[in-house]
Amino acid sequence: MKTAHTNKMLIIDLSDRTHDILQTPASLIRDFIGGKGFGASLLSDGISSDTDPLGPDNLLMFIPGPLTGTLAPAMRGCVVTKSPLTGIFLDSYFGGSLSAEIKYAGYDALIIKGRAANPSYIWINDGTVEIRDAKSVWGTDTLEANRRIKDELGDDTVKVATIGRAGENQVLYSLICCEYNRQAGRGGAGAVMGSKNLKAVAVKGSKLVNVHDPAAFAAACKDAFTELEQSADVEALRLAGTASAVEFANETGLLPHKNYRNGTFAKASKIADKGQKKHLWLGSSACMGCPIRCSKIGAVRTGKYKGIVTDIVEYESAALMGSNLDISDIRAVAHLVKLCDLYGLDSMSTGTVIGFAMEAGEKGLLESPNGIDLSFGNIETAEYLIHTVANQEGELGTLLAKGVKQAADIIGKEASGFAMHTKGLETPAWGPRGVAGMALAYMTTDRGGCHQRGFPLSYELSGEWNDVSLDPLSPRGKANLVAHLQNYSAGTDTLVKCDFGSFGISDTTYARMLSAATGTRFTADDFVKTGERIWNLVRLFNLDQGMDASTDTLPRRFVEEPLPDGPGKGHRISKKDMAYMIQEYYKTRGWDDNGIPLEKTLNRLGIRYVRSNQ
Ligand code: SF4
Repeated sequence: MKTAHTNKMLIIDLSDRTHDILQTPASLIRDFIGGKGFGASLLSDGISSDTDPLGPDNLLMFIPGPLTGTLAPAMRGCVVTKSPLTGIFLDSYFGGSLSAEIKYAGYDALIIKGRAANPSYIWINDGTVEIRDAKSVWGTDTLEANRRIKDELGDDTVKVATIGRAGENQVLYSLICCEYNRQAGRGGAGAVMGSKNLKAVAVKGSKLVNVHDPAAFAAACKDAFTELEQSADVEALRLAGTASAVEFANETGLLPHKNYRNGTFAKASKIADKGQKKHLWLGSSACMGCPIRCSKIGAVRTGKYKGIVTDIVEYESAALMGSNLDISDIRAVAHLVKLCDLYGLDSMSTGTVIGFAMEAGEKGLLESPNGIDLSFGNIETAEYLIHTVANQEGELGTLLAKGVKQAADIIGKEASGFAMHTKGLETPAWGPRGVAGMALAYMTTDRGGCHQRGFPLSYELSGEWNDVSLDPLSPRGKANLVAHLQNYSAGTDTLVKCDFGSFGISDTTYARMLSAATGTRFTADDFVKTGERIWNLVRLFNLDQGMDASTDTLPRRFVEEPLPDGPGKGHRISKKDMAYMIQEYYKTRGWDDNGIPLEKTLNRLGIRYVRSNQ
């Protein structure tokens, strides 16, 4: 039967330089569809609780979705591994065209294990797999490595994932750059790649992705494109990308300023789309198969950083490297973000780490090295810290390369009070003190501090969900909303669709595309059910890795310090509110009081998982 799954997974062992092609199990497709689901199942089966994230036994997987490489709009790829930053499950998503190339080469997943004896890169050309010497590109930045590998292979159309110096040096929040400006950014997948002595993965494929019923698939895709174009949010995204969210976050008091002390920034418009249009943007670009073209290509045109070629500074980077550090010159922010891109550092975590360091400097908890002024607003300090961290230079670079949680633990004293993270992953750029549901979403995210596993604040600020009124400041009624959004997000992350390139597309249309492509009937409900299965499986995996209910919490600043400005002024998420929401959430999920899934919940979802510590 023709289907969009290739039914093959490529497994490569860098230690013994072998590879094998495995049949994709039918049960994996049936229960987990693709993307995040495949990753959750393969990681649970493939590593144990004592697997060192930076050891050879950790798995590093590149997984496209079943519809990636087809007509379906805005389909992407994900990287799944055990995070060296958090020690738990990590799924990190990338756009561009690399994931489609993996499908064209004939694979539902690339699974990489072991550790190469010397710096290496993997070259996959359809069924041919080589492990090549990468000594000549080791030490280069992400873009230079991409160019040199294409030159060596003599083919500009090859798609390449690379790490930069940060990944080579195993900075715990280093990323994987998938083609020029698309990154698997969060959680330190770049460090896992570096620990395997793997500089790059280059892929070229020549096969088309099959679909089971081409006419039905084309009709469903046509409807998806129509729904997308009719969405009220698409035009704003097309015009200004996610940079337009800066002003929204500022007006709603959710924009981090000075390491999240405040929720507004007087100069927000300078780092938002208006400032970016004036100083940076020249044109638009898109990921493969996406009609939105939310990305903006450009260059700094005036001032000290003139000539730097840049992409859009996305909302999260603009906020965490801009307002969070009290920096309002978007040209400088673009420069700092570009440095992170070249080193292969997650600019979100890096912004939060620098904010933490600046506050620690202000409080006298960190000594300023080399006369560096560790105070907010200092662009040179931010630049210095990026270089220092990426190269793990000196005591300060080595300390901050571990992320804010570990750095705060090492510094001691009151440092943990302003270390902004959940489960070790640095907090995204949406302060939750005025939106209790968003706080619950942070408390319970499966990969740590993340806003993409359910984004309840949009419902909270609109005042209702499912025809029920919602008070953004109240903890009541948030557990159901958060659990539903997490299930839906995990379910549709099996398709590995873009969160923005899916605006307006209904669950029913996604189910029609998937059914026509695979020949198996899926309904809209299947995404929520599959998502719930994945969410519970990842919870078991994380518990097995040593996580417990005590980590279902918030950074202390959000609990102890009332928001000083914005519509949520005076509010914080109290311990009482946290306890209320978390118990309601566990109950909603069918977990016990300690956040462990009950037997009957696992039976209902068809999950069999033997925890290795039982
Ligand atoms: S909406 Fe933007 S990020 Fe998403 S697929 Fe389209 S171009 Fe890529």
